[in-house]
Amino acid sequence: MKKTFSKILIANRGEIACRVIRTARRMGVATVAVYSDADAASMHVAMADEAIHIGASPVSESYLVGSRIIEAALATGAEAIHPGYGFLSENPDFVDAVKAAGLIFIGPSAEAIRAMGLKDAAKDLMTKAGVPVVPGYQGANQDATFLANEAERIGYPVLIKARAGGGGKGMRKVDKASEFLDALAAAQREGQASFGDAHVLVEKFITSPRHIEVQVFGDNHGSAVHLFERDCSLQRRHQKVIEEAPAPGMTDAVRHAMTDAAVTAAKAISYSGAGTIEFIVDGSGPLREDGFWFMEMNTRLQVEHPVTEAITGVDLVEWQLLVASGAPLPMAQDALQIDGHAFEARLYAEDPTKGFLPATGKLEHLSFCAKARNDSGVQSGDSISPFYDPMIAKIITHAATREDALDGLLDALGETQVAGTATNAEFLSALAKHDGFAKGHFDTGVIERDLAALTASDPLSEEHIAFGAIAALDLDPSRRDFGFRLWGEAKHQVQFTYEGEQIERQLILCSDGSVIMSGDNTRPLKLSAVKVENAHITARSGATGAIRKAQVRVATRNAEQLVSVLFGGVVRDLLLPDPRSGSLVTSDLSDVVLAPMTGTIVGLDVAVGDRIDEGAKLGVMEAMKMETALVAPRAGTVLEVSCAVGDAVEGGSVLIRLEEQPDA
Ligand code: ADP
Ligand code: ADP
Ligand code: MG
Repeated sequence: MKKTFSKILIANRGEIACRVIRTARRMGVATVAVYSDADAASMHVAMADEAIHIGASPVSESYLVGSRIIEAALATGAEAIHPGYGFLSENPDFVDAVKAAGLIFIGPSAEAIRAMGLKDAAKDLMTKAGVPVVPGYQGANQDATFLANEAERIGYPVLIKARAGGGGKGMRKVDKASEFLDALAAAQREGQASFGDAHVLVEKFITSPRHIEVQVFGDNHGSAVHLFERDCSLQRRHQKVIEEAPAPGMTDAVRHAMTDAAVTAAKAISYSGAGTIEFIVDGSGPLREDGFWFMEMNTRLQVEHPVTEAITGVDLVEWQLLVASGAPLPMAQDALQIDGHAFEARLYAEDPTKGFLPATGKLEHLSFCAKARNDSGVQSGDSISPFYDPMIAKIITHAATREDALDGLLDALGETQVAGTATNAEFLSALAKHDGFAKGHFDTGVIERDLAALTASDPLSEEHIAFGAIAALDLDPSRRDFGFRLWGEAKHQVQFTYEGEQIERQLILCSDGSVIMSGDNTRPLKLSAVKVENAHITARSGATGAIRKAQVRVATRNAEQLVSVLFGGVVRDLLLPDPRSGSLVTSDLSDVVLAPMTGTIVGLDVAVGDRIDEGAKLGVMEAMKMETALVAPRAGTVLEVSCAVGDAVEGGSVLIRLEEQPDA
């Protein structure tokens, strides 16, 4: 291994910090982690050789404070800083400050980041370099009437984009002229609020769009190569959900044209390090050489870089360290080849059945499929805090063909087990099974169009309840020492709540070791040959006698027991009141609107005295990149609004009070 640095600091957290540390260690480079209060006990801190505390949990007081990070690097003798993605990775002022401190930034120059930082300037630059850009207006005139005329000229539908935008924010699709001005105001507001820049550009909205991007890599000696493309068309609200490489339906000619354009773009700004050129592609028919347009460049390592690593065999972080230390690109273009097909799915702590509400909480159990690459920054017992991106892991599979890699992804998702917090695992599995996607016929609108089917969750099964009850009651029929048995049978009563609903069942342990569960309005379920081994329960189930295996975890949460039952990737969390605490008193919540999560109030649509209907939108909250509507629990009159736009509020706090229920 070539000598690069003796020690580097990683200015990030979570999975990407862990991923960088892994390669650094393999290369004999010592690592320094930085962390906030919330991350003191996190995986990246434990993995690094040293760790420095840099501030409080909010990112604005820790991971975004460049000066503290640079101080930490100087104090520990690190020679270079790896920014990961997000946070300070695309902040040119930070790059300047790193350089001024005599340190090396593992990434492109501040000039290259500035050149690509604003979408309008980047498009102008690319046009000059001869790269096709999305038709539109990206000039200085921001007059609303002028922009509306431009939209007319471009032709509807159009997309208004905040030029400083990122993460799918500050964008509005407009289908007709009458909607333009409202959409413009919304995009400007979002641009100002999230990026401090209200400037927008207007683009032709490409119909049946696919997002195909090219991984590029440059060095400090003027060379640049590409590492082929990734297809990131499976998106929800302009954010990627499942990515793959190579792109389905790609031909040699189109690949040649796209990768050529990408390398031209990189060379136009003397790009050094890992970067991604994003193209929007006409996906209405077969891919065409004249059917792709530059959207933006991401001047950093991308979240989805592992699919490129899988098909090329290149460790992109290793290349980043080599190139930043001054080495030439390790491989020439001719030596790079595509081997097979790869997928990545982003596993998030969020609840697709509740509008993808970000979830927080302790991961009572987390385990992955051994056959997949699982990039994660958390483990069993860790918590998903409300302060950061709720990503739990990236699950990556690789095989000789697309079909096999997709099968592998389905298997891997099925074997991924998370207990304690809601996840999008079932949604990802549904996507991986989606017919159009499986055939390689899809565009960026697939998820939105098929959302209802993709987020439909199987109801709670009697098997989940029965396995949960066996674990909760600590029964092991095979031990035959359960409870006090009368006349060869023992009866147990169990009461759970599942998503607020009461479930009552009776379990009878028969002298032959089988268990019969029954309840009102449910068909009795018989489990035989029940075996309990630690957290694993196996039994023959129902009339068919099919063998069912579940993992069941029991954890104490507040005054309740949390019983998590996992069949493959499908987890159901049942709550069992702690017998010691007596009956749980739940207050009547129909008079109040609570914050669904810890975050910021970004919109309020009501004031004291307003009459509202049930289900009316009262306001909007944001946590990280996700917006969630505040919804009226019933019709009534607003009595009190105890928050204002811009307030940071704790999950569960009362935001709005309605007048008392007339009949309550
Ligand atoms: P990509 O195309 O690589 O997903 P994004 O711009 O969507 O690029 O974001 C990359 C990553 O940066 C995200 O997955 C997230 O972890 C982080 N990130 C982006 N925007 C924010 C933000 N506003 N707050 C916190 N993290 C962010
Ligand atoms: P961000 O900085 O938020 O990543 P992008 O410009 O990369 O913004 O756009 C995000 C996503 O929005 C793209 O991946 C694509 O799905 C969609 N998109 C962007 N531009 C267009 C366009 N002109 N036509 C259709 N869809 C687009
Ligand atoms: Mg983008």
